Amino acid sequence: MKKNMLCTIAVLLAVLFAACKKSADTPGTATIESTQAAKVHGYIIGLGFPAHTIVDNGNEYIVEGDIIFPKNMEVPGGVKTEQYYTGSLVSATNVTNIRLYVDTSMTSMASEINSAIAQWNGISGCTIHWTVVTGAPFDVTITNYNLGSGVCGQGTFPSSGNAGNLIRINKSYIAGNSFAQRARTICHEMGHNVSFRHTNWSAIGESTATDVPGVGGTDASSIMNGGQCGSGATVLSAKDIQAAVALYH
Ligand SMILES: [Zn+2]
Repeated sequence: MKKNMLCTIAVLLAVLFAACKKSADTPGTATIESTQAAKVHGYIIGLGFPAHTIVDNGNEYIVEGDIIFPKNMEVPGGVKTEQYYTGSLVSATNVTNIRLYVDTSMTSMASEINSAIAQWNGISGCTIHWTVVTGAPFDVTITNYNLGSGVCGQGTFPSSGNAGNLIRINKSYIAGNSFAQRARTICHEMGHNVSFRHTNWSAIGESTATDVPGVGGTDASSIMNGGQCGSGATVLSAKDIQAAVALYH
């Protein structure tokens, strides 16, 4: 009961905060941009995330602490609401060559990045293939970003058949973690960029996620479990691998 009340209070506070923010906006700024943002907001709601979990962060929305939705993203059509994913995949062509641009702020973690890539690329019977590129053209940028305390990194879901275009790593925050845990953070965020949601979405109170066909349920060993910054699985689990093959083969 107490927990429910606290939740209710949290929701009310979130609503109040949102209301405050809204009133602080300059009147008459309803532009094409905000219409586009509303579309993205609607898309996030459509994926099943409750409105109060969506944080407005300037040019983007942040959901569940580690997923970025750029306000200018192209909203995928036909959101499906049924390991778990967003229902929107990287296209069969694009997934075989996801070009990752390592921002100079992340070159010191090149070994961790390569280790994470090796995990995704090493799945037998799966078409996911990441390559590091040193300049344009590229599909995804990985960059250092101060996300404060408690968030290791952020990924971005795919849209229009493209892998999510941004991964942020809270480099100073994870610097004290083991090599395997630093690589885990990167591997986990890469999972979001190819559509994976948190395997433990239910346990950590997130919105209902779409089952990967034939690979639903919980999995304590999943690298895609959320809220396990610095302590979670460091290798793709058997079910993570099954799910990756089910979505991309
Ligand atoms: Zn995550």
